[in-house]
Amino acid sequence: MQIYKVGGAVRDRLLGKPVTDIDWVVVGATTEEMLAKGFRPVGADFPVFLHPKSGEEYALARTERKSGRGYGGFTFHASPEVTLEEDLIRRDLTINAMAEDDQQNLTDPFHGQRDLEARLLRHVSPAFAEDPLRVLRVARFAARYTGLGFTVAPETLELMRQLSESGELEALTAERSWKEISRALMEDQPQVFIEVLRECGALKVLMPEVDALFGVPQPEAHHPEIDTGVHTLSVLEQAARHKQPLTVRWACLLHDLGKGLTPEEEWPRHNAHEHKGLKLIKAVNERFKAPKDCQELALLVGEYHTHGHRALELKPSTLLELLQSFDVYRRPQRFEEFIAACEMDARGRKGLEQRSYPQADYLRGAANAARTVAVQPLLEKGFKGPELGEAIKRERLKALKAYKDAASA
Ligand code: ATP
Ligand code: MG
Repeated sequence: MQIYKVGGAVRDRLLGKPVTDIDWVVVGATTEEMLAKGFRPVGADFPVFLHPKSGEEYALARTERKSGRGYGGFTFHASPEVTLEEDLIRRDLTINAMAEDDQQNLTDPFHGQRDLEARLLRHVSPAFAEDPLRVLRVARFAARYTGLGFTVAPETLELMRQLSESGELEALTAERSWKEISRALMEDQPQVFIEVLRECGALKVLMPEVDALFGVPQPEAHHPEIDTGVHTLSVLEQAARHKQPLTVRWACLLHDLGKGLTPEEEWPRHNAHEHKGLKLIKAVNERFKAPKDCQELALLVGEYHTHGHRALELKPSTLLELLQSFDVYRRPQRFEEFIAACEMDARGRKGLEQRSYPQADYLRGAANAARTVAVQPLLEKGFKGPELGEAIKRERLKALKAYKDAASA
């Protein structure tokens, strides 16, 4: 059997980037031979194995043929006769379809190296269209390598456009889509992921609620960039620049969805967009089965981001309601993430990227003030049940009044 490094490891070495995980392809071997060498099979009917020591993935060279809709609709054919080249042709991009032996001899039948130099993300063959996930993968690679000057080759973009129009994207499972989306959002320039999806028409299919924000104006006084879609991309860009976690980035992407529902005659104002957007945020959350923490934060940021911006003007009672909604007493981290998302929203505006955001410290201070209210003395006074709850609330409100007075003094 011959063993080659393939995919990302080869690509990233040639780009001079750090290589984290290595994928291997094995030519000329059978499943039985792999098992005899101590490799552990990954799935029952999938020719992929884990190395007994390194745990890295070793896949038998295989061909793929599409036999139906979606990813379940694939038949694999792995046998010792499948050549390296036959395995490489089923891969998505030319820069991902190179292999390297242990002497660093490159096998590059589809000119991946040439495309690396030309900074082009180009599909390997027309079979690209057989797996719609590749649309998301190309957009993700565009986000990852935009800083190096990579763009999507025009003919690949055209293919992505056809795939988006064909209805095939709808056959993707939530799990496969979310994996690409979440990885893309964690890149340094996640806004490029959304831009590329929009350019090829995939955004309209995957997240029509986000697509609808483009062309929707906002008041220039608060939003010099005016366009709500442009604003959303800037917020995402800021979130990445400030190294925010996935929860915050997801919330940033979805925070203004309600603005897409405003009747045109009300533009550029968006009354109650926070509340109107909730059902859209819920729909997107559920479509991709986003993890619970992402879902929760997106909904909370959607509902309360304007409260965040107005923090210094909020009445103590409103401030208290906000803190209660976040359960800041038991979930301090989630409130921090809310504050971060609000700050990214404030900075994701043309020319305002460097502005200060005093609301952040003010909100932290308010949460601390409410948290300092001790329950023990109230228990000692004999409060229990719902009355205890009311008493705690009263004390917290008092603490917030004092906090606000001290802050404005
Ligand atoms: P990363 O650095 O993100 O891991 P990668 O290129 O290694 O990038 P993987 O998802 O680990 O990406 O996949 C390894 C290789 O398998 C890819 O380089 C590509 O050749 C191939 N591949 C993975 N998924 C697909 C797919 N859906 N369609 C075609 N080829 C794919
Ligand atoms: Mg990889």
